[in-house]
Amino acid sequence: HAKAQGRGRYQFFTPELNAQVAERLTLENHLRQALERQQLHLVYQPQFAIDRRRLVGCEALLRWQHPEQGLISPARFIPLAEETGLIVEIGRWVLDEACRQAAAWLAAGTPLRVAVNVSARQLGQPDWLAEVEAALARHRLPSCWLELEVTESTLMEDAEQAVRHLQAFKERGIHLAVDDFGTGYSSLTYLKRFSPDLIKIDRAFVMNLPHNRDDAAIVSAIVQLAEALGMQTLAEGVESEEQLDFLAQAGCDVVQGYLTGRPQNAAELTALLATSRGLEPFQ
Ligand code: C2E
Ligand code: MG
Ligand code: MG
Ligand code: MG
Repeated sequence: HAKAQGRGRYQFFTPELNAQVAERLTLENHLRQALERQQLHLVYQPQFAIDRRRLVGCEALLRWQHPEQGLISPARFIPLAEETGLIVEIGRWVLDEACRQAAAWLAAGTPLRVAVNVSARQLGQPDWLAEVEAALARHRLPSCWLELEVTESTLMEDAEQAVRHLQAFKERGIHLAVDDFGTGYSSLTYLKRFSPDLIKIDRAFVMNLPHNRDDAAIVSAIVQLAEALGMQTLAEGVESEEQLDFLAQAGCDVVQGYLTGRPQNAAELTALLATSRGLEPFQ
């Protein structure tokens, strides 16, 4: 097989590399089957207004319970799903499941906005918008309870199809969040162009707050910029009271992190909703 790709490359197939390729292929095949075998599920991480008194939303995060390997991190299988295109089918399931859960919370009288991660591959699908609308309709979920998270690098790709989709989402009242803000090739042009509702400041900048002066300056500047542009900010990965205090001082709106709540299953979040709920969709 290696030989077919040309003589020059033959020598690069070391035993270790072969093992890596084989492992990848196995994982890919297992991932293909994971959906039908119902090994995928969603967990939900709460998002709180910075005063911590109001639960304003949650992020749906994918989990893969592999029968032999146990829980596999999305950091490991999402990139694989993106490369192989499997993310399209998986993402369709995520969207449907998240809408179903959001509709269940709404029906129970404890509505909560659910944020769903969307990859570039999905946005490139011509029928993606129709799929989102179908999912909302299927579960009778008003669009204000759904938020879509798109990473900075996805926006930067600036693919025509994706641009049209994002604009259409906004027209339909679906919240748009920019995920992992600050880690990609940040361009302010696309902030202006897409005017997202929410900027999610990446954990990398939050991690060393408040002591790292550069990070403190960057976070403050992002919050001010967002405010001036009429957007909200969410800090990812908040783990300490110190970080929270700094973020509150800086004027950040929402926090999401282990300090205020780990990603948890729907039943656990339902219990949390009973005690601290946001009745209005957070604007
Ligand atoms: P993300 O969208 O930036 O999600 C936030 C990640 O940070 C989650 O990792 C979450 O568990 C983790 N996190 C939250 N709070 C803390 C904290 O206080 N400390 C630390 N150390 N980590 C925290 P997770 O669940 O492993 O997901 C990793 C990434 O996988 C996500 O990053 C997202 O890019 C991707 N992903 C997850 N689910 C989906 C999905 O359904 N579709 C797509 N396309 N991507 C997904
Ligand atoms: Mg996200
Ligand atoms: Mg994020
Ligand atoms: Mg992140």
